[in-house]
Amino acid sequence: MSEGWKSHSRKVTPYVPGEQPKSQNLIKLNTNENPYPPSPKVEACLRNIDVSRLRLYPDPQATELTAALSNYYGVECEQVFVGNGSDEVLALAFLAFFNGDKEILFPNITYSFYDVYAELYDIKHRKVPLNEQFEIDINAYKVENGGIIFSNPNAPTSIAISVEQIEDILKANRDVVVIVDEAYVDFGAESAVDLIHQYHNLLVIHTYSKSRALAGLRLGVAIGSKELIAHLEAVKNSFNSYPIDMIAQELATVAIQDVEYFKRITSKVIQTRTYVMTELRKLGFTVADSKTNFVFVTHPTLLAKDLFEFLKTYQIYVRYFDKPFIDNHLRISIGTDEEMDQLLKHIRMYMTRQ
Ligand code: PMP
Repeated sequence: MSEGWKSHSRKVTPYVPGEQPKSQNLIKLNTNENPYPPSPKVEACLRNIDVSRLRLYPDPQATELTAALSNYYGVECEQVFVGNGSDEVLALAFLAFFNGDKEILFPNITYSFYDVYAELYDIKHRKVPLNEQFEIDINAYKVENGGIIFSNPNAPTSIAISVEQIEDILKANRDVVVIVDEAYVDFGAESAVDLIHQYHNLLVIHTYSKSRALAGLRLGVAIGSKELIAHLEAVKNSFNSYPIDMIAQELATVAIQDVEYFKRITSKVIQTRTYVMTELRKLGFTVADSKTNFVFVTHPTLLAKDLFEFLKTYQIYVRYFDKPFIDNHLRISIGTDEEMDQLLKHIRMYMTRQ
């Protein structure tokens, strides 16, 4: 076949997600999934779904789901937007709000999809270095720009900034959209959601893949002023009217209402994280102060890539990034206590062999 089509096509550098190996018999700590199942109410709801209704299109406004979310977040329905995973919400938000002449800003070490969207849409962007402690450098965002996005807690560093620091950035940036991606906020950081009432240019994005244990369902949420949400809706409706399927709308609605279960699994993950951080520090690892469901670690004498390969031979998958500044770090998702004990056992085994 002729290669001519290539000159008419868009050039892309896609995001590379963590491996999703097919084998069941492994310890999967590489994509920050929740080790616990979703709320039992989700299963009960699934059993009662009337499959004949699937011949119809789903509700394009996801009305019930949006109402459940507005109730949970204490905001109006017009301040809530839903998408097919927060990746889709982010993609639409980039398309909707980052379209000026000035460069947008995001940290040099952060969720690598931001780079991918900026390249995909040809958005001018500048990566702002984290400080020496791997924290977001607040003052570096007080310069002219065309928009700002960062995750809080940041990924893969796991470190959070405070709501006061976010407000500091907002005060200096009133005329551009500031997006705070709070994918991991439920694991111990403070949410900036309440600031949407005061700062109409703030968009907060959440995912139901992590703390709600629904990565396979695909639900992402944006919370912001009515003006921002209406614009995001208009862009979504220029792209896909039905991103959330009927089953996902129903299951997510019951999951959101089960606050008690959500709190229980989230605190369990936090408890396991505290234990893992202590044990890894005893083994000489430097462990960032995690407010997420993963830890970001490095060791003064062990090579991260070698340890990553070693663990993989024992079917323990963690995440290694072959990228500047972090190529001697590992990002390890928090699994069950048993999984983390296996991880620690194999790390000790590796260390005795060095
Ligand atoms: N933001 C951050 C910071 C993430 O780590 C992830 C998960 N890879 C996402 C957004 C996307 O999550 P999802 O599309 O599953 O909602």
